[in-house]
Amino acid sequence: MSSSTKPLPRTLNTLSEVNGTVITPDDSAYDQSRAVFYGGIDKRPAAIVRVADADDVRRVIRTARDEGFELAIRSGGHSVVGHSTTDGGLVIDLRGISNVEIDADGRTAWIGAGATAIHVTEALAPRERVIAFGDSGSVGVGGITLGGGIGFLVRKFGMTIDSLLAAEIVTADGRVRRVDAEHDAELFWALRGGGGNFGVVTRLQFLLRELPHFTGGILILPATAETIAGFSAASLAAPEELSTICNVMPAPPLPFLPAELHGRLVIFAFIAFAGDDESAQRAIAPFRALAKPLADMVKPGPYVSMYPPEDPNYHPTAVARTLFVNSIDAAAAELIVDRLAKSDATMRVAQIRALGGAMARVPADATAYAHRTKPMLVNVAAFYQSDAERETRKAWVSEFGRALQPNDEAAYVGFLTDDGHERIRATYPGATWDRLAKVKSTYDPTNLFRLNQNIPPKG
Ligand SMILES: Cc1cc2nc3c(=O)[nH]c(=O)nc-3n(C[C@H](O)[C@H](O)[C@H](O)COP(=O)(O)OP(=O)(O)OC[C@H]3O[C@@H](n4cnc5c(N)ncnc54)[C@H](O)[C@@H]3O)c2cc1C
Repeated sequence: MSSSTKPLPRTLNTLSEVNGTVITPDDSAYDQSRAVFYGGIDKRPAAIVRVADADDVRRVIRTARDEGFELAIRSGGHSVVGHSTTDGGLVIDLRGISNVEIDADGRTAWIGAGATAIHVTEALAPRERVIAFGDSGSVGVGGITLGGGIGFLVRKFGMTIDSLLAAEIVTADGRVRRVDAEHDAELFWALRGGGGNFGVVTRLQFLLRELPHFTGGILILPATAETIAGFSAASLAAPEELSTICNVMPAPPLPFLPAELHGRLVIFAFIAFAGDDESAQRAIAPFRALAKPLADMVKPGPYVSMYPPEDPNYHPTAVARTLFVNSIDAAAAELIVDRLAKSDATMRVAQIRALGGAMARVPADATAYAHRTKPMLVNVAAFYQSDAERETRKAWVSEFGRALQPNDEAAYVGFLTDDGHERIRATYPGATWDRLAKVKSTYDPTNLFRLNQNIPPKG
């Protein structure tokens, strides 16, 4: 049933049949509904359809196809470039499809694509089970899974896609398909890393991992070239139960940090150890030994504590560049300190993630995420407040990124911004690109799903 207070325009008539709600510019919920995570993205869709089920998705796809509307797909709304909204088009908003249905034996679960990482993590916590998502609780399961998913448990349990067993997807022809390793196997392969190119995923089935013991939290160290290089080396040498995310950035004005530290360059690290606390203490000791910690909040506790509550009104404006490196040696660490010290952006960061472990054991061609053996993922980012400042910050992240990695041959789709076609190609090297383009031609020959890091169908 449509919630729109006025009759729908003729071109949206078919949407009057949806089971969910249709929100148009006349509705009081419109502004709130069209907002996405990042600030500075102010698009005005013709309608946002809060779909209730796969049939609703079919109806919206049909309307978009028949009436020529641009189509955006929204799960958690965290697209770095605003791909989940549109000016004048239709948004398929999956937030209403967020059920977590755990199987009787607690080993698998079907999850609505519109659920968030924290919602799922909380639902699984009583059973001491997890799915490895990313570092943000408000990211949508739909988007992070289709991109690949690299987070706090990546070395222990692999990427999010490495726990994906099946998906329900509505393709451009309006068919609802249940895909897995045996049914539409090429499509299932493409979904694991190929992003939103192939249809609208409504539900995902995951293998649940057991995590009865966990130690983790924030560790803050002074940032010098030595501590940054030491932290990176320790992260790569650590047992695979340990995953780290090392943010080199100015210390935020947090109440537990003395005021004189605010704004000073620190290592603001997330430490996650998937195992018992005694082993955790041994694995974390090399990090604590790098320098006297400025704050040490790493402790045993439930995994869900890695996702603190978030402010729903937080909409940062930021630019970023993503890249892979083999290591952060002394020279790279010095470069990081130098570039961060020279910028006056209110917030700027070099985020370093050590990969490897379970993630690297999956063959490069088993999923559409092919950069399996890259040892480290780096993201450099800066906040901006105005259009003019955006240009300055964009030039800064671009120069910084190229200085750290002069060779542009690889990227991770989850962190790509509006970097252009060559960077999308770099995300999907060699045969991966050709295979993805073939799947795209089969399931979306007219490129209906093009608001994404686009893989055009073969011409
Ligand atoms: C603060 C923040 C932290 C992040 N941390 C991590 C991290 O630790 N690890 C990591 O791997 N990534 C991370 N990301 C990147 C994130 O995984 C991607 O931006 C992802 O696309 C967001 O998913 P979403 O559902 O929230 O986004 P949306 O904006 O809702 O969707 C983004 C795009 O994904 C596609 N999509 C989404 N849902 C569906 C669906 N159901 N069916 C088909 N296509 C769909 C569409 O193309 C859509 O345009 C982070 C992003 C942010 C903003």
